[in-house]
Amino acid sequence: MGAMSDPLTLMTVHAHPDDETIATGGVMAKYAAQGIRVVCVTCTYGEVGEIVVPALDTPANHARLGEIRQLELARALARLGPIEHHWLGYRDSGMEGAPDNDDPRSFWQADLEEATGRLVGIVRRERPHVLVSYNDAGGYLHPDHIRAAQIAKAAFARAGDPLAYGEQLRGPRALEPWAPRKFYEIVLDIERREELNALLREQGIEPPWGPRADETDEQRRAREEWLARMAAAQGPVTTRVDVSDFLEAKHAALREHATQIAQDSPFLAITPAQWRRIAPTEDFTLRESRVAPVRLPEDDLFAGLREQ
Ligand SMILES: [Zn+2]
Repeated sequence: MGAMSDPLTLMTVHAHPDDETIATGGVMAKYAAQGIRVVCVTCTYGEVGEIVVPALDTPANHARLGEIRQLELARALARLGPIEHHWLGYRDSGMEGAPDNDDPRSFWQADLEEATGRLVGIVRRERPHVLVSYNDAGGYLHPDHIRAAQIAKAAFARAGDPLAYGEQLRGPRALEPWAPRKFYEIVLDIERREELNALLREQGIEPPWGPRADETDEQRRAREEWLARMAAAQGPVTTRVDVSDFLEAKHAALREHATQIAQDSPFLAITPAQWRRIAPTEDFTLRESRVAPVRLPEDDLFAGLREQ
């Protein structure tokens, strides 16, 4: 395992089309530009997302939203660089508590062992050194994000184990066990949010995560509880990767997710130049490592791997 001939490879594991760009568009573009192999896995097609553009928000488009979002994803990845992509093949589960949570085709209802096996197969085929996904709360408590993180963590633990999913290791298309070296969780950028909020309000945009002017006590409690649950799952920032040269590419990729990301959403209302000032890095928690010694903090997901 880990032959020197294996090209350095990054794999990101995401829940829906658009998450890859929002959360890791900068690092995917940066590492692709360095000639590192970048592979993106998307667990669901995002069938039950909202459509944020009123002109496109039609029953016909909702009926084929999964298809539309597959196209959007392909276009977005093309903006970020040469990036390989796999679908895990599940149905979007919708937000926490939504009826779509109960759909038997949904990722939320999927058998975890089976779902992990699909990802283990992709890991063994693509042989990534670095695996990136969400924390145990899925970043923001969306059921599909929680599931994506669970299977990514399980695949990190088990893809190198010859006793796990042994059927993948036999037969004419047999794969070999492969143990990725580092597992990172994406960190939501809470401490820089005040500056972001101020910039949005200057443009007349109310930050969607902030207190609303007409918020009731009950809504405030629910919002604060949500923020506290998110904060509890978030690890320390161990790794900040400077993506300032790739914010234009990220912005262009965000725009390709046209049904999902409105022009006046925080992501697009802030220009690449403003992002460069507020948040020039994408940040991560190194959660698991098979690299020794690890020196923290890091500024590179491949720290400790390039010299091998
Ligand atoms: Zn998502």
